[in-house]
Amino acid sequence: MPDDHNPADHKKLGFSTRMSHLGRPGVKTHGFVNPGVHRGSTVLYPDAEARRDGGAKRFERYMTYGTAGGPTHYALEDVITDIEGGTRCTIVSTGLAAVTVPLTAYLKNGDHCLMPDSCYGPARNFATSLMKDWGIETTFYDPCVDEAGMAALIQPNTKVVYTESPGSHTFEVQDIPAIARAAHARGAKVLMDNTWGIYNFQPFQHGVDVSIQALTKYVGGHSDILLGSITVNSEEDHIRVRTAASTMGHYASPDDCWLALRGARTMAMRLKAQEEASLEVARWLETQPQIKQILHPALPSHPQHALFKRDFTGGCSLFGVVLDPRYETGDMFRFVNALQLFGIGASWGGFESLALPTTGFVTRTAGSGDFGGTMLRLHIGLEDTKDLIADLAQGLRVLN
Ligand SMILES: *Cc1c(COP(=O)(O)O)cnc(C)c1O
Repeated sequence: MPDDHNPADHKKLGFSTRMSHLGRPGVKTHGFVNPGVHRGSTVLYPDAEARRDGGAKRFERYMTYGTAGGPTHYALEDVITDIEGGTRCTIVSTGLAAVTVPLTAYLKNGDHCLMPDSCYGPARNFATSLMKDWGIETTFYDPCVDEAGMAALIQPNTKVVYTESPGSHTFEVQDIPAIARAAHARGAKVLMDNTWGIYNFQPFQHGVDVSIQALTKYVGGHSDILLGSITVNSEEDHIRVRTAASTMGHYASPDDCWLALRGARTMAMRLKAQEEASLEVARWLETQPQIKQILHPALPSHPQHALFKRDFTGGCSLFGVVLDPRYETGDMFRFVNALQLFGIGASWGGFESLALPTTGFVTRTAGSGDFGGTMLRLHIGLEDTKDLIADLAQGLRVLN
């Protein structure tokens, strides 16, 4: 899309069309379809006055130094801003950095933070280690809290209500609009890890102030990069987040940004194919006697399916599996070990299927997350579903 293209016009275009056209430099790179990879530390100023005035313009994409980003970062920022429906975006080196930067930006010594019991493990670890050491107190809350429940949890010094929907490993869908109403009425910012929802959940239409994504997942899409994004919907929030990121020296490699741009071009169709495949696999698993419950928000059997249908336009291919209570952790390990086509690994969103034991890796202190059986997480890739189902069938036979 040319630079002079009216942003209001491109909003009318479909998602796949936008993913194909955004973040492309057009004639600026001699007509090549893709932006180049601009690596660099030193940026030369045209004159001494430009050097003097550069600092004040650093939020205007006026290149002053490598760490402030360059054209490859900006192209990716534009694409992610569009995916999230926000106004500005900051790219950082990992999804975890995208979690910790806004927490550091909005919280200081003496403040209080609320985090869902179901949040991504390393986010929880940041709260209970460094944040605690810095004198920031965190209360973990039941992710299924309603508006009144959230209002009751907010203290006068609560500055951040953190959310993640659905939750990591256990997939509770949160009532984000209700949580945001309670938070905003009491002056707290709403941060959300939107990695699962990607563009199927539009955070700013549901009251979120700062949206976090691990681009490592479906945007990258090929299990070969680590990258994170922090998207906001106001200039004030952008300056706050960007200042925190640059103060701490955060930076993402332009090569990784370039790979994320390449991933974004095909993301809509990958995501659609993988979500459909995941539903086929999940529906099949639901009928198997060894399975107690499938935790996929897009299935009618999910406890918060109604919330999912209200707020999401689709899902993705990551879901939880609860085994029948007669099986122990060792049985679940035998099942996972028997799988031939599923790798055993963390991360997700790539082209390949994964199975990950989650029992024993989930910390809960607010009483949520017990589904009455040992658990694992499946990520469905781009393989043929008949092969994946056959593999799961032979794996389940080990349990009989
Ligand atoms: C993977 C993940 C992250 C962190 O991403 P990395 O790039 O691996 O650091 C954050 N949030 C969620 C929900 C994730 O699944």
